[in-house]
Parts: sequence; structure tokens; C-alpha cells
Amino acid sequence: MSDLYLKLVNTPVGKTAAQSLGLPSPAPLSRLKRVDQPFIEGDVLIGAGAGARAIATLGSIIGASPAGLHHATGIETLADSAQAGNKAKALDVSGEVNGKFSALVFDATGLKTPQELRALYDFFHPTIRKLASNGRVLVIGQDPHTCRKAPQAAAQQALEGFVRAVGKEIGKKGCTANLAWMAPNAENQLDSTVRFFLSARSAYVSGQAVRIGKAEEAKATNPVAPLAGKVALVTGASRGIGAAIAETLARDGATVIGLDIPPALEELQKVTDAIKGKALACDITEEKAPKLIADFIEKETGGVDFVVHNAGITRDKTLGNMPEHFWDMTIAVNLTAEELIDEELAERKLMRDNGRIVCISSISGIAGNFGQTNYSCAKSGVIGYVESMAKHLKNGITINAIAPGFIETQMTAAMPFTIREAGRRMNSLSQGGQPVDVAEAIAWYCNPASAGVNGNVVRVCGQSLIGK
Ligand code: NAD
Repeated sequence: MSDLYLKLVNTPVGKTAAQSLGLPSPAPLSRLKRVDQPFIEGDVLIGAGAGARAIATLGSIIGASPAGLHHATGIETLADSAQAGNKAKALDVSGEVNGKFSALVFDATGLKTPQELRALYDFFHPTIRKLASNGRVLVIGQDPHTCRKAPQAAAQQALEGFVRAVGKEIGKKGCTANLAWMAPNAENQLDSTVRFFLSARSAYVSGQAVRIGKAEEAKATNPVAPLAGKVALVTGASRGIGAAIAETLARDGATVIGLDIPPALEELQKVTDAIKGKALACDITEEKAPKLIADFIEKETGGVDFVVHNAGITRDKTLGNMPEHFWDMTIAVNLTAEELIDEELAERKLMRDNGRIVCISSISGIAGNFGQTNYSCAKSGVIGYVESMAKHLKNGITINAIAPGFIETQMTAAMPFTIREAGRRMNSLSQGGQPVDVAEAIAWYCNPASAGVNGNVVRVCGQSLIGK
């Protein structure tokens, strides 16, 4: 789906008109162009507060890649954040890379008191205006749930407010700000998350706080095909976000089983043929669906590594006007079917060790939406399901959710014009996301190096103003 306003406002005449009328001027977002593209290019400035624990790990992730894919240049690591201002000025004077940083990364893991939050100001105040368009801010902290003392928990929780506010200030340049909260001693789990948040793959993800727990260190994978040898089941794969997920996981090396309702089989086959995948026609709400899916997996691939519950529907009506089948269908597709499919796959031991379950929630499930009591209820239930399952899954299997905001698909194209325009603009980046933005976040969850990323709900919403 195309956003004509975004195109128009990025022409010289459109830009001037938007500025004089006080209209939003969204910046075009840089997305991944090639799989072997370096995850970040240009100058990255890394700073740290007192007692920082992740700084060495950050330096090695950003400064050197085991597979030689690293191309970031001019990395400056500042153990003392107060030096940051001097360095930014030095870059200006020499004219090096025009004095701009492609990312500002701050290790706040050691902050133990509210007073120490001053380190954030010291690092970002002199450097934030040096962030290039489509630049990245990434803060690493310690999960407040793991902090023993209240002042430390306060300082670590404070990072969330800081990052969310920064995201709102820098979004107009297409820049994003995110936070990764590590459990103590989980430095070896940072790799895939740091790469994701600093790369073009997270173009539409901003204002998010992710929790990273301890897990076994992943073995090195082929960086251009990290999912090679894995099998993915993607529901609702014939179009929209599901088709993008299937294509993205296949791009990263996975064999994809695409599933959709029987009437969508022709479209589904076009998607799966193009990625050398397999197509399964099945309505996930039918009683026999979990068994049918499990039988198909058993016969075709012998097991599955990733299950992406993407199929979803909306049946909008205000509660008093809602027919009961609208309620029942919406809960069945968006929530009940996911649980029943997972149960069957687990019982028949078809879900492989170190597998990944990914559910699709929605901003409607976080904030609630007018005319969507059924959909908001189901999508909120998805979050409850993910958070609970994350505590119980074994054998290295993780479960996470994505909550998309406004994504340009047939679902959103069917919205009335005013609601569609409001959905597109009411976020820090002032534009809708693309299906691939959701797919890239799922590929990050599925990465073998994301074993410590479990029980998260990450919004792919350009930091929508709606909800938390
Ligand atoms: P879409 O309507 O374009 O695609 C949904 C797919 O699910 C379709 O191919 C459909 O045939 C399939 N499906 C529906 N019922 C099914 C069933 N019973 N069995 C098997 N397949 C079934 O929607 P989309 O915009 O691509 O959304 C994908 C997911 O993202 C959904 O879960 C949706 O709720 C969620 N989401 C989308 C947005 C957005 O802005 N587009 C925002 C938030 C959440």
C-alpha cells in the first residue's frame, strides 16, 4: 500500500508546503537493501556510566564481527561519558564524516542511584544533535526486576522514560531510540539484539524496552543465512504481513511452511513457490486444524523450529451492536487457535529444541480500540499467553510477541480515510510501517543468538502515540 503524503512531502515543493502549513514532515526510512549489508555503517559513539558492565561486549559486537561483516568505522568508546562532548566537537573540527554519528550507544548497566542518571545527560546532551538521519539511539541497562535495591531499580526503570522521550524528539529525522534491559551476567546474549536495534531492520521500531535473560551462548551462524536448516510455520502467509514474514524467514535461510484458508490457496502458493516453501490450506479455527497441521509437519519436515501465529481477523462493531459470531470468530482466530496448535505440536514433540514461538498481538490489545472489544480482547489475551508460556517452556524454546501499530496492508487499506490517516501519522515517525518491518523483528526473535529474548512484547509501531 502506498502513502502518497510521505512521497509528496519529500519533494522540494511538498517539504516547503508542509513546513509553512505546520504539517508533519516524515523522513523516508532506510530499510535493508541487501542481506550482506553491514548492520551499521558510519561512526558509532559508545559511552558508559560508572560501573558499566556491557561496554567491552558492545565494543566487540559493534567493532568486530566474527564473520567479518563489520564495516562500522570510527568507533569511539568513551568509558567516561563526560568525554563525549569533546569527541563530538573534535569530529566537527576535523570534518570527519561531517561530524555525524550513525548511532549513539550508552551502557547504563552500572547506574545504581537516581543521582547517577546525570551520566545520560552528560553523554547525550552534547551528542544528540550530531545524530545522522535514520540514526539509532540504544541504551543498555539492567532489568529493574533483578535490582536488589530501590534506588538502583529506580535508576534502571528511569531509562525507559528517557528512551521513550528521546524517541519522540528524534523521530522526525527517521531516528529511533530503544532500550535493552539485561539480566545480570547476560552480556553474552546481547549480540543479536544490539545488531537488530542498530540496523536498518529495526527502521519502524522505536521507544521499546526489551528484556534479555540468561541463556546458553549460541553457536556462530552464517550471518547472511542465520536460519539455515530451520523450518518455520507461518499462518496467514498468503498476503500482507504473513507473506512478508514467510519471505523474510526464507531469505534468512529457513524452509517455510505457509498456511492460509483454503480460498486463499492460489495466492498462498504464489508466495511459497517463490521461496521454495510448502503451502498448507487450512482454516486454523476448525476442530481438526491442530491435528492436520501436526500431521503435515510430521510428514513433510519431521518437526518445526519456528511457529509464527500471524493469521488474524478483525470484525468491528461496537459491543452493543456486535453479533455473537463476530465475537466468536475474532477470539477463535486471533487467540484460541494459537494455543491449541502449540499444544498439539508440543504433545507430539514436533517443536524442536531451541525453537521459537512468535505471536502477533496489536496496539489494540495494549490500548483497546473503539469498535474492537473482540479484537482488543483477543490481542490482549495473546500478551497474557506469551508472558505465561515464557515461564514454562523448556529445551531452549522461547516465545515472544510483536504488537504492530499501523502497517500498510489490505487490512489497513480497508479503513475509512480519516482513521487511516490518523493511524499513519500518530507516531514518532509520522508514517505507517511496512509488512517487512514486522517480519524483520520476527527474524530477530528467531535468530539462534536470541535465546535470551523471551517473554517480550515488542511494538513495531514507529512509537505510536496510542497505548503505553
Ligand atoms: P491480512 O488480513 O492482510 O492477512 C491475514 C491473513 O490471515 C490472511 O491471509 C487471511 O486469509 C489469514 N487468515 C484469516 N483467518 C484465518 C484462518 N481462520 N485460518 C487461516 N488463515 C486465516 O492482515 P495483516 O494486516 O497482514 O495482519 C497480519 C497480522 O497482524 C494479524 O494477526 C493482524 O491482526 C495483525 N496486525 C495487523 C496490523 C496492521 O496494521 N495491518 C496491526 C496490528 C496487528
